[in-house]
Amino acid sequence: MPEGDTLYRIAENIRPVLQGQAITAALSNPSPQVPAIDAASLVGCTITSVEARGKHLLISLDDDRVVHSHLGMHGSWHAYTIGEPWRKPARQAGLAMRTATHEVVNFNPKLLELVTATTLRRNDYLQRLGPDLMLPDVDLPSILPRLRTHNAAPVGEAVMNQTLLAGVGNVYKSETLFLARINPWSRVDELGDQQLLDYLQLTHRLMRLNRKSGKRTTRFAGDGVRFWVYGRSGQACFECADKVRIRRQGDAGRTTYWCPTCQQPPAGR
Ligand SMILES: [Zn+2]
Repeated sequence: MPEGDTLYRIAENIRPVLQGQAITAALSNPSPQVPAIDAASLVGCTITSVEARGKHLLISLDDDRVVHSHLGMHGSWHAYTIGEPWRKPARQAGLAMRTATHEVVNFNPKLLELVTATTLRRNDYLQRLGPDLMLPDVDLPSILPRLRTHNAAPVGEAVMNQTLLAGVGNVYKSETLFLARINPWSRVDELGDQQLLDYLQLTHRLMRLNRKSGKRTTRFAGDGVRFWVYGRSGQACFECADKVRIRRQGDAGRTTYWCPTCQQPPAGR
C-alpha cells in the first residue's frame, strides 16, 4: 500500500528519466473515479521537476502547468524503456507519457489532474499538508504544536492525519507506535512533548531508511520477517510472546496492529 516513502521513491525513480525531457507522446484513459486529462496538450512540453509531497506526486511542466496525482490504495507509477512491455493493461493507464527514451505510466490513480501552478498553490489540501517526514531536513519540533491541536484524538489517528504530519500510512503507524511502546488508543494529551518528539525522530529515521528501492522494512532481524506487528495479528509478539492484535481505528476504519502487553494504555485507563 502506498505510504509517504512510496511516493518519495517513485519521485526518485522517475525524476532521472523525466526531468529536463520533452514529452513526445501522451495518453490518458478515464476510469469510473477519475476523468481523463488533456494528454494531447502535454506533447511538446518539457518536464521541469518531479516532486513528492506527502502522498501526492507533482510533475511540473515548462508552461506553468502541473500534473497532480494521488495513488490512493491501488495506484502505481512505472517507468519503462521504450519497447519494454507494460506490466499492467494499457486501459488502466490514467496517464502515460513518452520521452525520447522512456515511457512513464501512472496506473489506477485515485486523483489525476492537470492544473496551473497557481491553482495548485491554492489547493486547500496541499496547503494544509503537514511537514513531510520523508524530507531529510524536516523540522520535527514544528510538528509538536500541530499534534497538540488534536490533543483529544487517539494517537493512532493523529499520526495518520496528513495535515499534522505527512507521510505516515497504516504500516508505519502500527510499526512505529509499537517500536515507541505507545498504545494506539492513547490520546495525544496523554503523551509528553519529549515522548512525541522521540516518536517523530524514530518514525523519520525509519522512513528515511526505506527511501531507496527494496521492500519496506521496519524490523531488521535477518530472519525475513520485515514487520514487528503489521500483518501479524494472532501471532506471537517478538518481544513478549503475547498475541499481536488487530482492530479498526478511526472514522476511516483503518486497521491498527498492536501488542497489548508491550503497548500498555497510560496508567489509570
Ligand atoms: Zn509484546
